[in-house]
Amino acid sequence: MQMRDAMKLQRAWQAKGAPPCAHPEMDVEFDLGGRTGDKVCTTCGESFSREELKEMGR
Ligand SMILES: [Zn+2]
Repeated sequence: MQMRDAMKLQRAWQAKGAPPCAHPEMDVEFDLGGRTGDKVCTTCGESFSREELKEMGR
């Protein structure tokens, strides 16, 4: 997922009152052509670093 799309998702999620999200599906985050090394929740648009994902067991 592109970073800008993740930001759009985040904004839409905030507009819904930012309900809790279990982050059911993660996608690799891209900034234009390159991977950022992070993953993004396709539901709420929150991005997670490798360290965060490891801590979460994902
Ligand atoms: Zn989420």
